[in-house]
Amino acid sequence: MTAKVVIVGGGFAGLACAKHLAKDKAVEVTLIDRLNYSQFQPLLYQVATAQLGSSDVASPLRTLSIKHPSVTVKLGEVASVDPVARSVTTSTGQTYSGDYLVLAGGSQPNFFGTPGAPEHAFPLYSLTDAQRLRSRIITAFEEADRDPTLVDQGALTFVIVGAGATGTEIAGALAEMIHGTLAAEYRDLAVTSAKVIMIDHGHAVLGPFSDSAHEYAAKVLQKDGVQVRLGTGVTEVGPGHVTLSDGTSLRTRCVIWGGGLKAAPVAAASGLAQGRGGRVGVATDLTAEGFPGVYVVGDIANIPSPSGDPFPQLGSVAQQSGKWAAANILADIEGKPRKPFHYLDKGVMAMIGRNSAVAEVGAGHHTLHGSVAFAAWLGVHAALMSGFRNRIDAFVDWSWDYFSKSRSGQVLDRSDAGRIDWDEDPTTDEPPVTDGPSSAAAPA
Ligand SMILES: Cc1cc2nc3c(=O)[nH]c(=O)nc-3n(C[C@H](O)[C@H](O)[C@H](O)COP(=O)(O)OP(=O)(O)OC[C@H]3O[C@@H](n4cnc5c(N)ncnc54)[C@H](O)[C@@H]3O)c2cc1C
Repeated sequence: MTAKVVIVGGGFAGLACAKHLAKDKAVEVTLIDRLNYSQFQPLLYQVATAQLGSSDVASPLRTLSIKHPSVTVKLGEVASVDPVARSVTTSTGQTYSGDYLVLAGGSQPNFFGTPGAPEHAFPLYSLTDAQRLRSRIITAFEEADRDPTLVDQGALTFVIVGAGATGTEIAGALAEMIHGTLAAEYRDLAVTSAKVIMIDHGHAVLGPFSDSAHEYAAKVLQKDGVQVRLGTGVTEVGPGHVTLSDGTSLRTRCVIWGGGLKAAPVAAASGLAQGRGGRVGVATDLTAEGFPGVYVVGDIANIPSPSGDPFPQLGSVAQQSGKWAAANILADIEGKPRKPFHYLDKGVMAMIGRNSAVAEVGAGHHTLHGSVAFAAWLGVHAALMSGFRNRIDAFVDWSWDYFSKSRSGQVLDRSDAGRIDWDEDPTTDEPPVTDGPSSAAAPA
């Protein structure tokens, strides 16, 4: 008899699950995603800073059905979930049910209730976010080139909220883009007045890493011209300014949100018990508590680690948990026992800029810096990208940028997305807006 499996989400976790199940001819898989492509989030900051083109980090999901005939792909946004019936219904009314249900819906940005952030900040979670941010950055430079007085309205001030991996990677890449490429292209503009300011209420850059990584990352960013303001929160985001917890404000037309993530809305729609970050709690075999036919994997789940804390939201955790859920489903079908999830830790890493990265690898999370860490980052991400049709294209583009310092993706293809309304929240009527220290505005 054929077993039916319905998977919601074609990201790292959902894809790994579908591909592993496809090896068994007695299983039929229906994979549903609201997008018709899978996106490679670790390289989104490179799309946002024009190092890569959009298609380099997106892989069409329908091609799965060619390689794996037992997998059917459906485009749809799952609006409700019935864990008892193991069925889901999309916003357009289609219902899909199976013997097993796998929820792999990922995350969404968490603005932690900061007023104005959902409307005015630029998150960096999806390909659409990266395209929108790239358009805003290029538009800001074009408009300041046309009218340099707009620099006083924050046209060239880029504020990054969050000094974690997302914030650090985009800060380093943006500083490099501005001082390494745009400075030569916008000759009539005082590009040295551009500011990249990274803000975090915590007291370290790359908080979850070791102390030596904190120091190394902060040093590289400052050398590249990034102002780092720690111990400072963001209390409000407006169309032309951002207000900080120390009472000061900055004029800016681009607030990049790397402040945190929470579970995708499908977690709440499932009615399953949610824990930290709105994520669904799962047992060690990756099934939702009380629902042995419902697996929850990847970012949307709080997967218990041996230490008792949930595993972090990482591509490798998502990929391995998706594959593990598939193996447990196959074991179930064959009447064998399910196994508790075992994670093969490949370490954590972050790219700070050209030839600068930090990596913590091995059992003791041994810290690597500089070009060795850069090489480790490349290796791990090339492996994570396996299955992405455009892997080679992406690495060719990126290597070209590495040597030439040009930006192959610097195309203003979404001018609508980058549009700036200078009449909205004009901050020329001071006070209350007060810019902070302008040290480190240009690279050392
Ligand atoms: C900017 C950034 C950089 C990162 N860098 C790294 C890194 O360097 N290394 C690393 O290991 N990890 C990194 N991560 C984390 C990694 O990308 C995630 O852990 C991983 O993508 C999670 O995989 P997932 O399958 O759980 O979710 P996702 O990959 O987000 O996939 C979820 C899928 O579900 C779909 N979906 C959601 N809701 C619905 C719905 N209601 N109906 C239908 N479909 C739905 C979405 O469209 C999406 O395709 C990064 C994340 C970000 C945001």
